[in-house]
Amino acid sequence: MHIPFTDIRAQDKELAPRLKNAVERVLRSGRYIMGSELEAFEKEFAAYCETEHAIGVGSGTEALFLALRACGIGPGDEVITVSHTFIATALAITWTGATPIFVDIDSATYTMAPKAIEAAVTPRTRAIVPVHLYGQCADMDPIVALAEDHDLWVIEDAAQAHGATYKGRRAGSLGHLACFSFYPTKNLGAYGDGGAVITKDPALNRRLRLLRNYGQSEKYHHIAEGYNSRLDEMQAALLRVQLDVLDQRNQKRRASAQLYTELLKGTAVTPPKIASYAQPVFHQYVIRSAHRDALQSFLEEHGIQTLIHYPIPIHRQEVYADTPSFPSLPHTEACAREVLSLPIGIEIDENTVRRVAHCVASYEPNQHAVSA
Ligand SMILES: *Cc1c(COP(=O)(O)O)cnc(C)c1O
Repeated sequence: MHIPFTDIRAQDKELAPRLKNAVERVLRSGRYIMGSELEAFEKEFAAYCETEHAIGVGSGTEALFLALRACGIGPGDEVITVSHTFIATALAITWTGATPIFVDIDSATYTMAPKAIEAAVTPRTRAIVPVHLYGQCADMDPIVALAEDHDLWVIEDAAQAHGATYKGRRAGSLGHLACFSFYPTKNLGAYGDGGAVITKDPALNRRLRLLRNYGQSEKYHHIAEGYNSRLDEMQAALLRVQLDVLDQRNQKRRASAQLYTELLKGTAVTPPKIASYAQPVFHQYVIRSAHRDALQSFLEEHGIQTLIHYPIPIHRQEVYADTPSFPSLPHTEACAREVLSLPIGIEIDENTVRRVAHCVASYEPNQHAVSA
């Protein structure tokens, strides 16, 4: 019996009539870019995130890039972020010409360690980009306080955290700006690429609307060096259907996560820690094991597909090999060696969770090493 890591098509069955309806609405409208579906989705998503404005853009990476550009960040500037994240967080920073400064993570929550930030601040620092990794918010209060002390922008990378909360407040409502991805496998996923920036600030909202649309203030009047990065009508219409079921689906992920954690208690692996301030949405369910690679092979032999998020920290990636003086990040590097993501998609039922957990629990590193 094969258990795939994720099967996104299985999640669409129950929504099929509503998705078809959305597609047909767009086809009938004859409007494919910057129309009423985008406008409606932006309103609905902003309200969902408990903020004022949502600006639909081409992808999560572009959302981060445009957010940084809206803050005026460019060559010569430094942006503090983490190395234990998806590459896009750093790419968006280096696209602007700024330099990413990586700080270590908290070894229990895998998100930015607020204590590590102060030492990384220099006169060139302009922004902090915490990542709400795996669907759990970074510890934002101390991060925001430190940013205020040093007059820095806070841009949340919320690409994995649609609907998560921090002390009861929604991910994305905590910094000056927040960026979301609607890549198909994210908790809120489109049927192609898509992303959004959200903010409470009317000036940043105006700036982002210019930047995503050729810097155009009115037709053929260009007042900023803009880009072409828009969430199209088809994606917006489909995302409205998905947004409707997001809470229900996040709840399902939480239930699976809770069951995994119960079943893995007392085993050799470390289940994820839920911080006291967080209500996560489990974009990933990530366990930790000193024998990660062997455990992954063992699960694979038993038909269970797992993934590693992420095997190589960004400061060790070849693309940034020439960037000088990256500090050592011991927690980040240990994580890259030890983390393993178990299947947690909303198509997973209770039986599947039990079978996966049972298999993880049955793994004995020494015995396995002998028989291998
Ligand atoms: C997915 C992801 C992104 C990038 O989003 P895309 O839509 O794929 O460009 C950025 N940051 C994190 C943490 C992500 O998981």
